[in-house]
Order: sequence, then C-alpha cells, then structure tokens
Amino acid sequence: MPEFHVDMGPQYEGERVRKEDLHVEFGGPKVEYKAELVLMKGLDEVQEGKVEIIGPDLSNMEEGGSYPLFVEIFVAGEKLEKDMEPVIERRLHDFCNFVEGIYHMNQQDEIWYRISKDAFKKGLTSLKEFGEILIFEYTSDIDIIEKMQVTFYTDPAKVKEKVEMARKIYEERRARARGLKEEDVEDFYGCVLCQSFAPTHCCIITPQRIANCGAINWFDGRAASKMDPEGPIFQVPKGETISVFKGEYGGADQTIQERSLGSIQQVWIHSAIEYPHTSCGCFQALYFYIPEVDAFGIVHRDFKGDTPLGMPFSTMAGEASGGRQVEGMCGMALEYLHSPKFFQYAGGMRRVVWMPKEVKERFKDAIPADIYDKIATEDDAVDPAALGEWLNQKGHPWVTGEAQQELQELIAREG
Ligand code: SF4
Repeated sequence: MPEFHVDMGPQYEGERVRKEDLHVEFGGPKVEYKAELVLMKGLDEVQEGKVEIIGPDLSNMEEGGSYPLFVEIFVAGEKLEKDMEPVIERRLHDFCNFVEGIYHMNQQDEIWYRISKDAFKKGLTSLKEFGEILIFEYTSDIDIIEKMQVTFYTDPAKVKEKVEMARKIYEERRARARGLKEEDVEDFYGCVLCQSFAPTHCCIITPQRIANCGAINWFDGRAASKMDPEGPIFQVPKGETISVFKGEYGGADQTIQERSLGSIQQVWIHSAIEYPHTSCGCFQALYFYIPEVDAFGIVHRDFKGDTPLGMPFSTMAGEASGGRQVEGMCGMALEYLHSPKFFQYAGGMRRVVWMPKEVKERFKDAIPADIYDKIATEDDAVDPAALGEWLNQKGHPWVTGEAQQELQELIAREG
C-alpha cells in the first residue's frame, strides 16, 4: 500500500466533519456549482495515476471556506462497460468516506465534500494526494478498472462550464430508463451504500422508481450488480407481485427485511403513507403530507425557504432521514416525477398541491397540463390557510374532490 498522510478504511465511514473541525468544504448548500462525473475512455486515452488540479489547491484556500469543485474521473479497462459509469461515480460516496478526515454527501451536481483541519495538519495539503488515494481505492477494489486519472477543477469559471456539461450527461442517463415498466422485468436492484449514515436504509430500484439520490436507475443497478456481485448494489428478485398499484413485491419485502436486519418488514414502492420506501439522507427531494389540505407537497434540497409545513427542507430532511419509514414524509429523486407510477397509491401527481417554482418549471413536462396552473409555489402561498384558499380559487382537482374520487376508484380496481 502506498504511503499517504491520512489513514483509510471502513472504520472512517459515518465519520462527520463538523463546521468547527473544517479546513475547507467543496460544494454543499453555500456553493452553486459543484459536481462529480466518471467517464469511460479508451485504454490509450487515460494516463494511469495522473492527478491534475485546475485552479487553487487546498493550501491556497482560506480555512473554513466553501468552494466550487468539479471532480472529473476517467476510467479505462477491457471489461468496463459504458453502463458502469454512474455506478463507479456513485462509489465516490463510500471511497471518500473511507478516508480519515474526508466527508462526502450527496451526488452528481449536489455534492458536498468536507476536509478536516486534522487531515490537513497531518499532511493532506493537496488535492493531488486525495486523487491518488481515490485511484488507489478504486483500482484495489474494482479490478476491471485498469487505468484511472482524476482532475479536480476548482477554478470557478471552469467548474461552471464543466457542471453544465455534466448536467446534460446526467439527463441522458436518466432518460434511458423512461419507458421501461416494472411489469417488464424479472429483477429489481437494491443499494445499501447509504447504510453508513442510515443503518436500516435500502433503496429498492425499479424501472419506475429510480433511487432516492437520483444517481442509480434500474440500468445502473443492473450494471453495478454485474460489475461487483458482492458489492453494495445487488440484484433483488422481484418475487411474487402482490400489487402493481402499490408497488408491493415479495422479493422487495424479503430484501428490506434482510437488509434492515428485521427492523422493516414491508415496502410499498409507490405509497407515501402506508409502508413507504425508507429514506436515507441523500434524497434529492421530499414528498410531504400537508394535513390542512389533505394533500402533498414536494420540496427539493436547493430550496432554502419554508414549506407549508412551516419548516425548510433541511429541518424536514432531519425528520425523514436515517433509514426509517416515515409516514407522509418520503425521500425521493426528482426523476421519479417522470414515472407514471409516481406515488400513485397516495394519489400521485393529482394530489400534489405545492412545490418550489424551480421544480415546477424544470419538470413541467412531468406535470399533467390540466393541473400545472393549479399547483402553488412559494410565490402563490406558503401558509397552509392561504394555500387552501388559493387551491379553492384555482379549483385544484384534489380540493374539488374529483381526484379523490378517481383515486378511490383506482384503489378499488387495482389496489
Ligand atoms: S440513495 Fe440509495 S441508491 Fe443512492 S447511494 Fe444511497 S442507498 Fe445507494
């Protein structure tokens, strides 16, 4: 093993770097542009072991500061497949967290890296060494990676340019799984990567429900289980189909029982109140029940204001996370909005009455045209009483009772 200034191993997983222990952080809520991306290249296109830094390095940064970062990793290997890129990328979560004094949260363009003062004092004074550690971990653990090189972009203009490019790639990956149905496949996939922070959490990834972090879809799960059958992403035989409408499958129930060490017995993949999917801490958004209007809202990680529950995302995330099943407060990926089965057992999109303007605009194509103008944003109403009035004025189908009737009929027929 090469000599590094900091130690590494699974014992450091779950270690948090608190604000007062921080040397610097990259990404997170204070930084607009940040992302990580793994791309597969030809063997002759990757320079094994190369680490480059484009912009300031750790030793040139102000202690306690928050900085933009784009981590670009090129991998090559005869047995690698293009489908494996997102999976290799997601392993940054555990490989970073294995390193003493490094904390990694979230994924894609939502990343949050922290480097502790202790790690810096021990000699981790350059991103170059961080890159070398990553290359060592990856190539030791995934033997089909024959060559790897890492570039850290910290120059703000370059980071912005790279993040915009990466967003197009993330969207292409997500779009690939649209169209495939749960009824069309024999297996789902599971992921327990987040168990270091959420010990009873297990993502069940189906063609119609991407993982909560938005980074692993059904194709990615398939590629990951093929790449590393003993790894944290694994095949889940679908087993008996108990209810397509709820998203209840014998194989998923068995998996959640085993992987949560018996603390969770059942999961209804498209439900939000009864036996909802567990929530880790990496979810991109929350689907939450608003009792005053008996309907649901959606809030994403980047939204800083209060929601109709009188709390911001960060407070709600604390209540929902940890790997529990929280009735009426469910972690989700934003891509799940595109699923025709989106929380269908709870009323689906026709029971959504509130979401931040940014999500409403970005996911316009996923929202039925007849309710688009009837969903409130922070500009229309936040207080539940004002929200109720606004929905009545607009004639939202859940409030008029029309969508409630449709749901009752669906449950009677399909549930
Ligand atoms: S959110 Fe789910 S799929 Fe994503 S890393 Fe965590 S456990 Fe895995």
